[in-house]
Amino acid sequence: MMKLNGLASSEEEQLLAERVELLHEHLGTSLPIAFLCASIIFYGLSGVINSTLLFTWYISFFFVFLVRFYLYKLYTLHPHHAQRNLNIFIIGCTLSALMWGIAGTLLIPQGHILSQAIVIIIIAGVSSGSVQTLQASPLASTIYILLSVLPLDIWLLLQRTENYFLLSMSLFLYIIFMLITCKRGHNLIMSALMLRHENMNINLQLEDINKLLKTEIVKVKKNEKSLAQLAEIVRYSKDAIIGLDTNGVIQSWNKGAEMLYGFSEREMIGKSITLLTPTSQKDLLESMLEKVTNNLSFQNVELERQHKLNHLIPVSVTLSPIKNSDGTIIGISSMDRDVSERKEIDKVKNEFISVVSHELRTPLTSIKGSIGLLIHQIDTMPALKMSQLLEIAYNNCDRLIRLINDILDIEKIESGKLEFKTEIINLNALIFDSLEENQSFAAKFQVKLCFKSEDEVFISGDKDRLMQVMTNLISNAVKFSPPHSNVDILLSLHNNYVRVSVTDHGMGIPREFQPKIFGKFTQADASSTRNIGGTGLGLSICKAILEKHHSHIDFITEEGKGSCFYFDLLRS
Ligand code: ADP
Repeated sequence: MMKLNGLASSEEEQLLAERVELLHEHLGTSLPIAFLCASIIFYGLSGVINSTLLFTWYISFFFVFLVRFYLYKLYTLHPHHAQRNLNIFIIGCTLSALMWGIAGTLLIPQGHILSQAIVIIIIAGVSSGSVQTLQASPLASTIYILLSVLPLDIWLLLQRTENYFLLSMSLFLYIIFMLITCKRGHNLIMSALMLRHENMNINLQLEDINKLLKTEIVKVKKNEKSLAQLAEIVRYSKDAIIGLDTNGVIQSWNKGAEMLYGFSEREMIGKSITLLTPTSQKDLLESMLEKVTNNLSFQNVELERQHKLNHLIPVSVTLSPIKNSDGTIIGISSMDRDVSERKEIDKVKNEFISVVSHELRTPLTSIKGSIGLLIHQIDTMPALKMSQLLEIAYNNCDRLIRLINDILDIEKIESGKLEFKTEIINLNALIFDSLEENQSFAAKFQVKLCFKSEDEVFISGDKDRLMQVMTNLISNAVKFSPPHSNVDILLSLHNNYVRVSVTDHGMGIPREFQPKIFGKFTQADASSTRNIGGTGLGLSICKAILEKHHSHIDFITEEGKGSCFYFDLLRS
């Protein structure tokens, strides 16, 4: 018997089912052949032996043939009951073998050599023919061979003649040979079936591995995709994202870092991050890096870094440890955000607060001083002095109102609520009005306002707002003019538009301040202009008003020689 150790019971059942299938495989043809052989014996022995005996055997054989055929049909209808089908098969083949055994003893005629030969040959042939089918079951094959051939062998032995004895011995050897063949055949079948099973199991395992591999590949591909996306985000981030090893040596350098610090990836990989750090902050950075390697993080620490062109850039730095899957720290990430713009805005805000507080404090101090004097000396003060003090208080109130109006205008511009009433305006008349309005202011600075126009010009616009522009330009020109100089206001005609220019012969505008001049709360020099007064809002308001008139304000200036502010308007 083949060893079935190590097989699961389901596998043993499967093997049994396959053996039963092999047993039944050729039964559909071998049964009719067996019946044919029985018919040859019946025919060959007719008239030679007792006809009743022969007929009874033949009918019995036919009955066994029907029973076996019926059992075969049962098997084909219920092939899954392997053990039951095997038992039934063994019963069926025992019955057949019995029939051959009977034929080999009771049907052999004495002294009729030819008939004896027919029976012997057929029994030997039938038993050898069945070996191929029966070797799937050692029990079935043993029963079949012994029951069908052994009675004949014994009969031959009992004849007690030398020839029959030799024949009997040969048949005996034949039986032994058949049994050994069946045994070997059975072992071979079992090996083949078990190999087939192992093969099937391996195939199943391979299929499982294949499925697993497929899902793993999908996962890896997904991970690869999200990693690639992440890498692209990091690569093209506006912030500088720098990967460092635990010693602060740069391992990766994104586009943001390139833009912010001016160094290319090739220039920085392998260099220490301290190269970007100004000397004053090197110790601080080194101690921060050491702490990060001990699993600390730093969020938005404001540091300075050195650009390739040597200037310093204020940055907000976030330093965090990079860990591998076991949690071991393998590097440091440095995310640097440029905060120069925010710093600039902070500076402008601080300047604004200082300007506004100065602008508020100066007139308020004057108002308070004038009123204080009036209160304390009201009984003794001459009327002229009183009116001078009241005028000072009045003028300073005016200055306060202007400041507040400017701040309100800026707020309206920023929220898009600055309203315009458009009408056709005589520009010459408007400029005359603005001259008149600023005359006393100019007189204070001993500056003369001069107006020249080529012709009378009409435009479409908001009268009050354009007055506001003119007043601001004239008052600026006056403020920055030396005493006894002129401020020239000119209307010049060009095709379908008119250019308004206000020219002074004052200090001019410093080169470094020129790009910022139309910004909010900007003044060339907050300390020097403080003597002159102003909020740094006027030009920003002018620009916004003129933009609403589809116009654009600009200037020409020369330091120490003066400035000319101009804008163009479409003629109506
Ligand atoms: P302010 O109320 O301070 O005058 P502006 O926006 O009108 O505000 O002007 C901003 C700054 O531009 C001024 O403080 C001054 O430094 C500069 N500026 C404007 N006009 C002139 C000018 N005609 N000559 C020299 N500097 C000028």
